[in-house]
Amino acid sequence: MGYSDTEIRYLKGIGEKKAEAFNRLGVYTLRDLLSLFPRKYEDRSHFTPIAAAIDGESVCIKALVATEPRLSRVRRGLELVKFRVVDDSAAVDITYFNQPYIRQRIHKGDLCRIYGRIVVVGGMRTMTNPVYEAEGSVGSIGGIVPVYPLTSGLNQKLVSSAVRQALDACADELPDALPEKVREEYRLAQSGFAYENIHFPSDFEALELARRRLVFEELFVLACAMKKLKNGSKKAEGKKIIPPNPEEFFETLPFEPTGAQRRAINDALCDMASGGVMNRLVQGDVGSGKTLVAAALIWAAAKNGLGSAFMAPTEILAQQHYQTLTGLLDGFGIRIVKLTGAMTAKEKREAKAELKAGGPVLAVGTHALFSKDVEYENLGLVITDEQHRFGVNQRASLIEKGARPHVLVMSATPIPRTLALIIYGDLDVSVIDELPPGRQAVETVLVTESLRLRLNAFIRKLVGEGRQVFVVCPMIEESDAEQQEKLRSAEEHARELQRYFPDMKVACIHGRMKAKDKNALMEDFVAGRTDILVSTTVIEVGVDVPNAALMIIENAERFGLSQLHQLRGRVGRGKHKSYCVLVSDSDNEASVSRLRVMTKTSDGFKVSEEDLKLRGPGDFFGSRQHGLPEMHIADLCADMNVLQTAQTAANELTASDPDLCKPENARLKLAVKRLFEINADTLN
Ligand code: ADP
Ligand code: MG
Repeated sequence: MGYSDTEIRYLKGIGEKKAEAFNRLGVYTLRDLLSLFPRKYEDRSHFTPIAAAIDGESVCIKALVATEPRLSRVRRGLELVKFRVVDDSAAVDITYFNQPYIRQRIHKGDLCRIYGRIVVVGGMRTMTNPVYEAEGSVGSIGGIVPVYPLTSGLNQKLVSSAVRQALDACADELPDALPEKVREEYRLAQSGFAYENIHFPSDFEALELARRRLVFEELFVLACAMKKLKNGSKKAEGKKIIPPNPEEFFETLPFEPTGAQRRAINDALCDMASGGVMNRLVQGDVGSGKTLVAAALIWAAAKNGLGSAFMAPTEILAQQHYQTLTGLLDGFGIRIVKLTGAMTAKEKREAKAELKAGGPVLAVGTHALFSKDVEYENLGLVITDEQHRFGVNQRASLIEKGARPHVLVMSATPIPRTLALIIYGDLDVSVIDELPPGRQAVETVLVTESLRLRLNAFIRKLVGEGRQVFVVCPMIEESDAEQQEKLRSAEEHARELQRYFPDMKVACIHGRMKAKDKNALMEDFVAGRTDILVSTTVIEVGVDVPNAALMIIENAERFGLSQLHQLRGRVGRGKHKSYCVLVSDSDNEASVSRLRVMTKTSDGFKVSEEDLKLRGPGDFFGSRQHGLPEMHIADLCADMNVLQTAQTAANELTASDPDLCKPENARLKLAVKRLFEINADTLN
């Protein structure tokens, strides 16, 4: 155990309370503290002549105190100290609130550096509570100042002083996972330089170099870790299947498969016939018909006497896929078994017995499919839907169930190629770039609350024509009482609609309900027994109700674009003209322009591009969704080019030292191990 493992409470100025505050930021040891990177930096490196300072701008000035600071008591609890400073261009009036002791520190005739925001009041420049440093003293003005993430009990000064101590204490053993050779080859800064300048940059160039090094290092360790995971599960011989003629299956369908569906099916059949193990990603926008691809492959596996498992991310989706696949695979003698967490112990027991019996069987379910006690006989194919919701670990654990089954991953989330490479690595990709014929774009409109009556009239009209309606309300965070009042809670909204439309059947599904109840309500809706289904985002992915022609999204500003796109994909799946209504009273310009994107395009890739531009990686690259560990400094989207380089470097290095056994890679090995330990739930 080195010095960097020391707990932070041994630092000067950090007692129990402060240490607890740091803990809340995830900082326990000096090493953690070194990796508490500034959120941003304040440029206090340039001095501005007072006359050149613009109203509203934060500036550094060098000035002379021109008047003796004077204290005035405005009322009890409000004391002001005021004085004027000048340089050779103009003057600024300075005011401090409730800091009377300032009169002991600052006197007429002193030279000083001041950093603060200029506000022009009645033609006079003023500053309130600026940072003041006496000329000649050591301070922050004149340099670039880190701004750290804070939590209650901490302030900037305290954090930066703690970081300063940690840097000095750990100077000889800074975290450094980069082998020297890699560092040199990619011209990266040394760790000492990097940690010093990421916290206390000498100038912006040094900051950039420091950041590049640290981002590279983080992504390099991640790439090596993913590589290691994959090496463990690769190189296997697969169960060879003799591909049947898919036309035999297509003949039983009520429609013609699209060209893109045929291509994806053929790609996968070739993989499975090759003797190796299939590892394929099928990417296709919502509604592109991925389920059919899955069904065709399950059918082909069954023809070869092999069982399949189909895994969905939620109970509702598992239920729906169970029904859809039962329909699609009817008449082929495949036993279809449902297995989800919501089933009773008895039901589960029976399902497990069925699976163990082997033969041409299909298991459809949730995570429950890969619980420890589930055994498969002759499992040949594993399909996961909406993979980005599954951690890498889950994929691995299901793979363990069969002797190297073929794996098909289906996703509607358009992922930039480089990122897909890291997440999926060894997967081959088929893209379904064609929607089934006759699909009409979903007409999307953005409305404010004031149009509620017209919206209700529209609901009445569509339901009158026999259509069904989805209404989605944002999830409620219980802690946020004020927000809660303004947001449309699903249950309350459902009650309102039911009162307004007494002749219609309104149902409500939300996250806190039992899976069984959710399933029952969902079944009612699918069967057309319910007219309006109000829900939180539990219906976000996958659900297929062709008769639903209207999707209303309340408080639409609360959703990310990609999420809205997924939601919108729930309608326009049948032959009926469909609509998506985004309800938002937001007056935030950015939110409104984000929502406008939805009204202009129905292309999932375009939507996600816009999302990236407008919001950064947040939404669908949001920390846990893709199953990757949280990054400290790297931004998986903005640092895409570094990601690419780091990946190349990782491939080179692991090619010559796959198990990281060479002594020069010892620290890297440790960092990879640490990543696995910290992220045991996402990675292992
Ligand atoms: P997703 O790719 O979003 O999973 P689904 O597999 O749920 O899409 O398919 C969406 C809808 O399109 C379903 O109702 C399905 O029956 C229908 N569908 C799929 N393929 C075709 C096709 N080739 N022609 C017509 N309809 C199709
Ligand atoms: Mg689907």
